[in-house]
Amino acid sequence: MDGAGGSESDIDSDRERVRPRVVDSAPVSNPLPLSADSTASEHTALKADTVVVGAGIAGLSVARALAAPDHSVVVVESTGRVGGRLRSIRDDIDGRGLDLGATWCWPGELRVTSLVHELGIALHDQHIAGDAMYDGPDGAVRLDGNPIDVPAYRFTQGADTLTDRLAADLARRDGASIFLHTRAASIADDPESRRMIVRCSQKTNDAPTTLDVSARHVVIALPPAIAARTIDIDLPRDVAELAASTPVWMGATTKVVVRYHDAFWRRDGLSGSGVSHRGPLREVHDLSGPDGQPAALFGFGSSVDRPVTENDVVTQLTRLFGPSATQPAAVHIADWQSTLPEANRLHDYGTYGHRLFQQPTCDGRVHWVSTETSTDQPGHIEGALAAAERAVTAIRGG
Ligand SMILES: Cc1cc2nc3c(=O)[nH]c(=O)nc-3n(C[C@H](O)[C@H](O)[C@H](O)COP(=O)(O)OP(=O)(O)OC[C@H]3O[C@@H](n4cnc5c(N)ncnc54)[C@H](O)[C@@H]3O)c2cc1C
Repeated sequence: MDGAGGSESDIDSDRERVRPRVVDSAPVSNPLPLSADSTASEHTALKADTVVVGAGIAGLSVARALAAPDHSVVVVESTGRVGGRLRSIRDDIDGRGLDLGATWCWPGELRVTSLVHELGIALHDQHIAGDAMYDGPDGAVRLDGNPIDVPAYRFTQGADTLTDRLAADLARRDGASIFLHTRAASIADDPESRRMIVRCSQKTNDAPTTLDVSARHVVIALPPAIAARTIDIDLPRDVAELAASTPVWMGATTKVVVRYHDAFWRRDGLSGSGVSHRGPLREVHDLSGPDGQPAALFGFGSSVDRPVTENDVVTQLTRLFGPSATQPAAVHIADWQSTLPEANRLHDYGTYGHRLFQQPTCDGRVHWVSTETSTDQPGHIEGALAAAERAVTAIRGG
């Protein structure tokens, strides 16, 4: 079976195997190999050992760890790209990415640094030398030194190289498939087969289709609050309430990346860092490449109550770093709010890594895997990798 529209009979059912491919009718930024045949019929059924819902770093890590000739994995991703909250734009030299999502990893995050090493990804030090700025009610104040930043690493070609390379590696493996533009709509138990059925809606070749994946294990690799609100699944009450109330990490954040022709602030002995009580950005950092190119600043704001605008950002950066900031080469605004307003307003981070996320639910067949579910560094890429490890151990053991 090589086509995307294969029926269940195409599967080698003894080994419940699907061939490696990435299926996408509308290729976007990820350099993934695409199936030649993405013409799906109206309804397609597949069998796999594990189905992973969500192709962020957590989902792709689980899939890559499990996929093998004797363990088939289907990944379904609702958008047209892999990476989730890892997303970088490349609008300047050398294809170096400017991160619109995650930016840093930190010393001591051993899962990330080990993966970076394994995938051959270049890191460089976050630029922190120089003075920081305080954007106060009475105007901008230059601080003595930089109390805002801590030493951190940046992904030189962009953070999404992590997920691009994981996906490319996965797509080459026997036993793995990634379906883009494929949104899980429901997860239901099939008592006859003792398997779970993940029903997905697909947007391929303009015609909406459905894909059913029947699997022994389902990995929910997206924020629990989004899963609870958008996927029809009969969860135990305590688990459903926990999932619905767990905030989406950075889910109310607008990240703004402002590229300049050069890192002019460094010439003035400034680090590019700033903290603000005026906004629209509440903190600002240097986002330049290792040798200062591409030159960029970035900051975090929020569009929950009022949209962050380019004009307001440039005005703020000019207040902080002087007149050179008035002439950006490009401004990119990424609003990470989900389309679910109530999910963007959850604030009880005490549910992160909750004990109910540590064990699979629905008779041990549904696993929670997103950074929010991790007991170790929840919110970070490191947390997503830790959650993935937990699920892989449980699935291999079950
Ligand atoms: C602005 C910003 C800055 C950040 N900075 C840092 C940082 O500097 N360092 C750090 O370590 N972390 C940072 N983070 C957090 C980091 O990005 C996350 O911890 C990590 O990417 C989460 O990965 P994940 O796989 O758990 O979830 P996600 O990346 O959210 O992946 C979930 C995937 O599921 C898909 N999906 C959703 N619903 C469905 C469905 N029904 N069917 C199929 N697919 C679905 C989504 O499209 C998405 O691709 C930042 C995040 C943001 C937004």
